[in-house]
Amino acid sequence: MRDIVHRYGERAALNGVSFEVRPAELFGLLGPNGSGKTTLFRILSTLMVPVAGRALILGHNAAEDPSQLRREIGVVFQAQSIDLKLTAAENLMHQGHLYGLRGAALKKRIAEILARVGLADRAKEKAETFSGGMQRRLELAKGLLHGPKVLLLDEPTTGLDPGARRDLWQYLRILRDEERVTVLVTTHLMEEAERCDRLVILNEGRVVALGTPTELKREIGGDVIVLETKDPERLAGKIRTQFRTDTNVVEGQVRIEREHGHRFVTDLVEAFPGEIDAVSIAKPSLEDVFIRRTGHRFWTESEESTAKETLRLRSGQTPGHEGKH
Ligand code: ADP
Repeated sequence: MRDIVHRYGERAALNGVSFEVRPAELFGLLGPNGSGKTTLFRILSTLMVPVAGRALILGHNAAEDPSQLRREIGVVFQAQSIDLKLTAAENLMHQGHLYGLRGAALKKRIAEILARVGLADRAKEKAETFSGGMQRRLELAKGLLHGPKVLLLDEPTTGLDPGARRDLWQYLRILRDEERVTVLVTTHLMEEAERCDRLVILNEGRVVALGTPTELKREIGGDVIVLETKDPERLAGKIRTQFRTDTNVVEGQVRIEREHGHRFVTDLVEAFPGEIDAVSIAKPSLEDVFIRRTGHRFWTESEESTAKETLRLRSGQTPGHEGKH
């Protein structure tokens, strides 16, 4: 991707996005809602032509050579594309015809791909009888049927429970390792971005970070300490003066990056008795990288509580009983 710019009317969606994805890499596009992931995905999958810039995939310019490119890439959209009234094999049969595959060769390929996604024994069953995870795997099989070297997936784990999500990631890794497929995944989930070989983090249509999860987290020195207090600016100033350490106030919380954070927390609590309402200390996460690069949190507060609620419901926990399961 080179200097991709896109606008919807007056609204800028992408402001000069550039990155390269390497062969047989599991590459992530991470960004909060509205950061431009879907717009970028539509450009990559040839559904939309950017206002400026070049998207080059397998040597084809997505804007100039879309039909050739479509033969060579596999795309799994967020919205369901399988026909629930058809069996798994019938869904793939139709998909194969769209790609000009027929007869015995197609049958063989269908059997192979169903085995690959763990649905061989369900080939003759209607997709409506499948679990959410199995339906997603059938979507994946559709995207892979014609043997693409590049697979694009838009938030592929939406609506899946944690077990099915882990399975799907397992398949993506197998594809990368055994068939050397290049996989590009969009996600707004940090835990998924952590599983990518490399990723870009988007914010307001710009790349704010690019690298392996480890590299990105390494830029943060030591542990991340977050303090809650009534007057964060005042406390941050006092810590700066007394301990000669950098502090940041992000959305009402004081944040400090520091080696041996556990010892520093003790010093802080002793130095400012009664001023600190809550302390958290953690190893750096991709969200910390996002905060460092943008100065604001990844989630808005309401999104965070919705996301946590969704995760809790998906993992079978009932509100108010965290930790029981
Ligand atoms: P994401 O997928 O990361 O949530 P999008 O690519 O959907 O981000 O959106 C990027 C920006 O473009 C947002 O400001 C969004 O409101 C805007 N946008 C997206 N689609 C349209 C559209 N069809 N018309 C107008 N604005 C849009």
